[in-house]
Amino acid sequence: MRTLTLVVLLVMAGCGGSSDDTNNHGYGYQFDVMGTSGLQLRYSPTLNAGDYYADIAFYESEFERVQACTGISAPAPFVIVVKPEQLPDHGGYYYSGPALIVVDDFIALSAFRHEAIHYLLDYSTGDLDPGHLSPLFSRC
Ligand SMILES: [Zn+2]
Repeated sequence: MRTLTLVVLLVMAGCGGSSDDTNNHGYGYQFDVMGTSGLQLRYSPTLNAGDYYADIAFYESEFERVQACTGISAPAPFVIVVKPEQLPDHGGYYYSGPALIVVDDFIALSAFRHEAIHYLLDYSTGDLDPGHLSPLFSRC
């Protein structure tokens, strides 16, 4: 029953939600690289160093772009790249408190942009907009 409730909550929350999980929503805090902006990225064991979506510069430049587009600035997020099967029914997921963006390596670009908008909305308003009502989702 507890599992069913969790599944229902996840579906209702779309691709963003909060969790009372400890240890970074169960993912832990270890990272492979931290960029100059403070963005922390874990790509292992999903990717290898040198893979395109293992490049911290990619996420930092995309985060800059999304901040400019939305007009919202926030501290650089923690990002974890996983395999698609680790995020069933989602290409990405944003967790609130502490902020965590998880993207699957197959659609990392669009997933990161989308989840970064959830993060920026959550950071600036306290509402991550799970129903995607903000025009920023289509604009950015
Ligand atoms: Zn979403």
